[in-house]
Amino acid sequence: MCIVISVADDLPKIAIWDPDEVSILVARGTATGELIREVAAILTIDLGAPASVDDRLVCFCGTLVQLPGELTALVAAVDSSCGPV
Ligand SMILES: [Zn+2]
Repeated sequence: MCIVISVADDLPKIAIWDPDEVSILVARGTATGELIREVAAILTIDLGAPASVDDRLVCFCGTLVQLPGELTALVAAVDSSCGPV
């Protein structure tokens, strides 16, 4: 089962790994770059996923992790306004 990313309100941190739901909860309204880094850190450090490339998030099985619709829109906006890192 692949990792699912969900947006939630009132989280104590930017991103939280929820092992019971096999999901990563991310705080609504967080700056996208920061949020991607936090989620990538959870995936690679806590879950042993391969390092992400080009701000894509990769599941521990190697599949790209789908972002929720509202995050996809944010990432698309970042992609168009920023050059390569
Ligand atoms: Zn997977």
